[in-house]
Amino acid sequence: MLKVLKFGGTSVGTLERIQNVAEIIKKIKDDGHDVIAVVSAMSGETNKLIEYAEHYSKTPSEREMDMLLSSGERVTSALLSIALNEQGYKATSMSGREAGIYTNNSHTKARIEEIDTTNMKNAINEGNIIIVAGFQGVTLEGHRVSTLGRGGSDLTAVAIAGAIQADVCEIYTDVDGIYTTDPRIEPKAKKLEKISYDEMLELASLGAKVLQNRSVEMAKKLNVNLVSRSSFTPEVEGTLITKEENIMEKPVVSGIALDKNQIRVGMYGVIDRPGIASTIFTALADANINVDMIVQTRGADGKTDLDFTIPRTDWEVCKKVMSQFKEEAEKIDYNDTICKVSIVGVGMKSHTGVASKAFSALANENINIRIISTSEIKISMIIEEKYAELAVRALHDAYDLDK
Ligand code: ASP
Ligand code: MG
Repeated sequence: MLKVLKFGGTSVGTLERIQNVAEIIKKIKDDGHDVIAVVSAMSGETNKLIEYAEHYSKTPSEREMDMLLSSGERVTSALLSIALNEQGYKATSMSGREAGIYTNNSHTKARIEEIDTTNMKNAINEGNIIIVAGFQGVTLEGHRVSTLGRGGSDLTAVAIAGAIQADVCEIYTDVDGIYTTDPRIEPKAKKLEKISYDEMLELASLGAKVLQNRSVEMAKKLNVNLVSRSSFTPEVEGTLITKEENIMEKPVVSGIALDKNQIRVGMYGVIDRPGIASTIFTALADANINVDMIVQTRGADGKTDLDFTIPRTDWEVCKKVMSQFKEEAEKIDYNDTICKVSIVGVGMKSHTGVASKAFSALANENINIRIISTSEIKISMIIEEKYAELAVRALHDAYDLDK
């Protein structure tokens, strides 16, 4: 098999840990597989380089920042290669440029445009283990080094796995997979063996620490089998994130996600005329505010109520946007003591009674649901924040996720 492995900052955070990564790679090579390993900078290194630049300038040139920041990953790739060579393993490090990763011109947040796999294929054919410096490429036009945005090494790994048609792309972090819910909230949470791309994207809050959403989207697009696993317990299997068709037994519900970063905006007594929703939500979209759940209640006397949620970080901007609608509504208020709990599962598509079970579970705990929204594979509910953990545990129990 051809395996692309990716080791994050914590996994290569010290010289000992880089040695530990070398051991993991040796074992996989000894098992007869070809290996391309993508590495991050040692943890804290990228931030340190940013601070160095800020010592001289608050607005350093983005081209220079790319030159600077790309060095962190190069250090790790060379060190890991040296460690492997020393132990008699044929290994070669590659910068983004040498690995054939071409990007557009958007320095510090470049997009990968194409990957020329010639160098990597040749090196593999010569029996090398390849260690690629993650998070970087070279611009097609300017031939300058570019970086892919923070956390971009995941993207490097997925893009390479897609381009070279690797059998699997294993993302190593300090967590050994994706769980049915956050184990700090529900200690009975279980590690998932398999999960579909779409479920993973919906459960982003559970995977936030281990997988960048952008790279899951890319894996879906390029059809890359992703595995989330730990470099600290490499003997543990991890979670496979794959196509829905590859999952034989689809659980009705795979996981429970919790989002505490939303606030609810309420507009009361809004004049109920055609185009009002369009006006409001166009204004919010123009301000780049990502509206999540929207509920409009049935109008009376030509008035209606409108509730929606937005990310907490957009609160100030949202207030500014809403000020232009003061005349349109009797009252506008904001509630920041809410949270969103969601149940996610592809099996939902073909089962009935999934939603009612969630509502009953919350009712049994006397938790009031303020807003409900559903999609094909997700049911989200807005509740008071103080009940967040209780709700997660109740739902986890209701769908027997500990079994
Ligand atoms: N070193 C970069 C960062 O800290 C890229 C990465 O780790 O994926 O954002
Ligand atoms: Mg990282």
